[in-house]
Amino acid sequence: MKNIAVLGATGSIGRNTLEIAKSFPDKFKVTAISGKANIGLLEQQINRFHPKFVVVMDENTKKQLCHSISDKKIRVECGREGLIKISTLEEIDIVVSAITGITGLIPTLEAIKKGKHIAIAAKELLVTAGEIILKEVKKRDVKFVPVDSEHNAIFQCLEGRDKKDIKRIILTASGGPFYKEKNLHDISPEQALAHPVWEMGRKISIDSATLMNKGLEVIEAHWLFGIDISKIEIVIHPECIIHSMVEFIDGSILALLGIPDMKMPIQYALTYPERIPTQLEPLDLTKISRLHFSVPNFDKFPCLKFAYEAGSIGGTMPAVLNGANDVAVNLFLKKKIKFLDIPKIIEKVMDKHNVIQKPCLDDILASDEWAGRTAHEIGEL
Ligand code: MG
Repeated sequence: MKNIAVLGATGSIGRNTLEIAKSFPDKFKVTAISGKANIGLLEQQINRFHPKFVVVMDENTKKQLCHSISDKKIRVECGREGLIKISTLEEIDIVVSAITGITGLIPTLEAIKKGKHIAIAAKELLVTAGEIILKEVKKRDVKFVPVDSEHNAIFQCLEGRDKKDIKRIILTASGGPFYKEKNLHDISPEQALAHPVWEMGRKISIDSATLMNKGLEVIEAHWLFGIDISKIEIVIHPECIIHSMVEFIDGSILALLGIPDMKMPIQYALTYPERIPTQLEPLDLTKISRLHFSVPNFDKFPCLKFAYEAGSIGGTMPAVLNGANDVAVNLFLKKKIKFLDIPKIIEKVMDKHNVIQKPCLDDILASDEWAGRTAHEIGEL
């Protein structure tokens, strides 16, 4: 039996993780969960899984929750300290790092230092602090398995392979809801939130629509697998059946195929290096019959271009890309800016940034904060 801590239990990845835990009650016990905004759902999860620890954002929410939950044995904590506590508890075997944004950075690093098996879903952490994180992972030789479907696929394609044999990584992308749309001017948040294939949270749905999600994934793959940005390519593949591919120097390409359901990569991230039978429906290629591939349009989706740029520049630039994007997406969701303002804001913030190469954690956090503030200023003009 493995004890799991789910950082970000009420988000899309968190909910799917709890579903997996529920499907295999003899393998996983949900021992700690955290939630931020959706306290109603968090309470439902508490009643269903009876975790020993729950973490919420602040003291006020903690008081409210303590008052409303019937099981008084449950320990409620709050803030970053609370997240660090549940990530490093002696009894926790696996930490699922699934908080959107960089809130989970320090708790995840602390969990790595304690040698926990990590299922990493928060791509922002790898984008902003990938170098620091992977250094700790290697130093302590912890299991560090990506949950992002593309990276989980690449991870599996690379198992037991030599990095020097890799020619390139081919990241597949659905293209998002507007790939064929001619005019992106008047896209509303509601339209952008409706993804054709994957069911996801609000932030990542918008990132999918701008293709920033894929851009962030390029940087994520760069750190995770230690591959140069120039060797990572994107291919649009609307069916989302091939989750990504690795081409080797002899021309062989390994691909991972599966139905587009996040429970599949989550399950493998939890059971790695073991495999257990799935309860999901099998992939039937004869029913799909055709798969399509095309090159991405960098002019129509400039966020892709900025992500490659930020990844190549390195240092604090990926944190700035990410921080500016976070705020721009938020402004768009609040209808304060238009869809096409998102890349414009990011470009302006990147232009203003003085890059720090080989940043420490504080430089990264400060750059994220600066980028967010600067994006706000530009967006509110
Ligand atoms: Mg993905």
